[in-house]
Amino acid sequence: MSGIRLFAQRVPNVPLVGLFETAFYQWIPEAATRYGVPNAWHQAGVRRWGYHGASHKFIAERSAELLGREDVAERARRLYQDHGATPVREPALRVISCHLGGSSSITGIRNGVAVGNSLGLSPQSGLPHNNRVGDLDAMAVPFLLRSQGLSLEEIEKQLCREGGLKGVSGVSNDIRDIQTAADQGNPRARLALDFFVHETRRWIGAYLAQLNGTDALVFTAGIGENRAETRAAICAELDQLGVVLDPERNTATRAQEAIISPPGAKVTVMVIPTNEELVVAREVKRFLEHPPA
Ligand code: AMP
Repeated sequence: MSGIRLFAQRVPNVPLVGLFETAFYQWIPEAATRYGVPNAWHQAGVRRWGYHGASHKFIAERSAELLGREDVAERARRLYQDHGATPVREPALRVISCHLGGSSSITGIRNGVAVGNSLGLSPQSGLPHNNRVGDLDAMAVPFLLRSQGLSLEEIEKQLCREGGLKGVSGVSNDIRDIQTAADQGNPRARLALDFFVHETRRWIGAYLAQLNGTDALVFTAGIGENRAETRAAICAELDQLGVVLDPERNTATRAQEAIISPPGAKVTVMVIPTNEELVVAREVKRFLEHPPA
């Protein structure tokens, strides 16, 4: 909000356009938006919103292009102006997009349209993040309030700054430092890496079920693009579900577009560097050229 205010002051004649990270999830099934809370809470906004929308939208577009489904890529590119209505042909293209970085989320995508995202009400949910908590039983908060004498402000601060990979490892919020510590025999660092892989697989499983399998599994963002060992651990023993890595292709791939599954594999496993800026720039251009009436 400060950034927006400062831009408005410094460059008052330049239009400011907001593209919300939640926009990509406006067509997810209603059941995927719900928490088991009273309806009044849901109406007040306590629901799954989903974030990282610009990144996962880019993956929806680019993965379809790379898989030769220009019809699906076109739907993904035109999603916001056409409200998901651009026609595509059968069979459906199913993609699971893993944005693994300082902040991590997983999205299931059918024919260019998201069916859900692991981030919920806030971007503190879903997978563990570098120093943010990820999924947590809501009753942990009243438990800590009553039994540990922590204030709500202190709990909130620790959930948002002292959680995730940093909290579990006790080493760092950067997975590279955690890997170094694990290699030196630090058991908490090892656990943090295992925990990250476990949670990532749990969410991949959720979208494998929701999509009835997948045609592609895509890795993106700082960890997903750069860390072959994390990709290998996530994809281990998923062959019954069609997910197999080519170890040489996987190890050779760093921050570039590549297919890292063997030729003919049931699921195409890919690395695609994300490009959130491109999605934002395109949508801003479209908005300014065709402002709503
Ligand atoms: P992001 O939020 O997408 O910028 O990702 C940031 C995280 O990705 C960092 O905390 C690192 O753990 C990891 N990361 C970024 N670059 C690299 C790299 N070159 N090699 C390994 N891990 C990396």
